[in-house]
Amino acid sequence: MDADLVIRDVTVVSTRDGSLQAHQDVAISGDRIISVGPASPDGVPSGARAVDAGGTYLVPGFNDMHAHMFSRPGSGGDPSETFDLMLAHGVTGFRQMSGSARMLRQRADGTLMPERAPRLLAMPGSVLTPFNAGTAQAAVATVRRQRDDGADFIKAALVTSEAFYAAQAEARRLGIPILGHLPNGIDVARASGEGIRSVEHLGPGATLLACCSTEQDAVRDKLAARSGPKLPPLKFSFLEPVLDRVLAKVVVNPANMSRQPDIDILAQVTASFDQDAVGPIAQRFVADGTWQVPTLIRSRTTQRCDDPEWDSQPGLRYMAPSTLQTWRKAAAKFAKFPASSRQTFRTVYATMSHLACLLDAAGVRMLAGSDSGGAAWEVPGIALHQEFDELAKAGLPPLRILQMTTWDAADFLGATDVMGTVDAGKHADLVLLDANPVESAGHLHQIAGVVRAGHYYSPADLDAIKDSIAASQSVS
Ligand SMILES: [Zn+2]
Repeated sequence: MDADLVIRDVTVVSTRDGSLQAHQDVAISGDRIISVGPASPDGVPSGARAVDAGGTYLVPGFNDMHAHMFSRPGSGGDPSETFDLMLAHGVTGFRQMSGSARMLRQRADGTLMPERAPRLLAMPGSVLTPFNAGTAQAAVATVRRQRDDGADFIKAALVTSEAFYAAQAEARRLGIPILGHLPNGIDVARASGEGIRSVEHLGPGATLLACCSTEQDAVRDKLAARSGPKLPPLKFSFLEPVLDRVLAKVVVNPANMSRQPDIDILAQVTASFDQDAVGPIAQRFVADGTWQVPTLIRSRTTQRCDDPEWDSQPGLRYMAPSTLQTWRKAAAKFAKFPASSRQTFRTVYATMSHLACLLDAAGVRMLAGSDSGGAAWEVPGIALHQEFDELAKAGLPPLRILQMTTWDAADFLGATDVMGTVDAGKHADLVLLDANPVESAGHLHQIAGVVRAGHYYSPADLDAIKDSIAASQSVS
């Protein structure tokens, strides 16, 4: 097999232990790495493109393990710019967290993804909500239908605990993973024991925090009383797009939907947060193989939505004016909460950040995800880098953060044979960095080149992609 591309004289970073192999040549043919070995003085085989990468560090491409990439508001349904923005920031793969029967069909037909895009790693059908899983029976029927439609997993969101347990039992029976949010009133240990594959956003809300409270029993009763709304089932699947638009409005900032009793519960669980109570639930997650995807950047943009810093992010130049308007509206609405409520939200964010660090230290498996694509103030691609910073600020070591977006993502997907490290046989989805990412997570931002499916993008190429996206926003 002849190489098409050779990355020359690079330092390869092991995502397993953080060790470095200096002066390596990495040869790529098509979309695969074919060899990794000591830099050859004989140069590059004829016909292959050589990239002189001396002084840089090579890691697998980053994976955003919680993203909603087909739903960016204001994009007119065309996700190409979103995908370009991700690639330009080294995001070569993503786990799509919401789908539909139509998207699953398009994927099967090969018409879902544009040619230049990160790798779509996994995708569910429509998320479970009161519309398609309002009762236990409806939840079971929806799980069956989505499995038949070709979903890779079932994503639970806003459902009652009865619907949740029923969906979980059916998913287990069919052998399809189920994961997502832990609804109010759920027994977290039971959901973990019954096989929820990953918990998203550390809850969200108060469910997981309630397990880490000195007032667990009292909070649990209150949460059970706040369980999700009961709505009639959505009988016609052609209404799914309408529903998606309704959900998109909620998704911009779910905290804006909070009622006073919800905020009171959040105040109680954060005030009674007990570091020592984290141990038992963390051990449970470890024993059950339950993963966590903390999406701390989502917690921060949600719970601190009115922080002025968001509106001065340089990355806003990539977003459509209509999107910025939606985000500003959400921030203005959030700012109207009384000061005491806003303080509670801030404390929720700080507690989630602390919890992520404690869970990691206890050995709970975790993934890096941004929740971008609909969430206020989250620019696709950039938001994953902000998540790296959030995880670092929470106290996770740089190597762990690198792993959460590379090796752990591969392991979670059962795909370590084709991704997760820089080795022969793996996908040629790679990022070159100007500095060692094991020394500082901040070095993950210093991108000196991206390879996606064997295609090399120089820093100049990446800048051109970014500039063209920014330019298209100012004329739209
Ligand atoms: Zn999400």
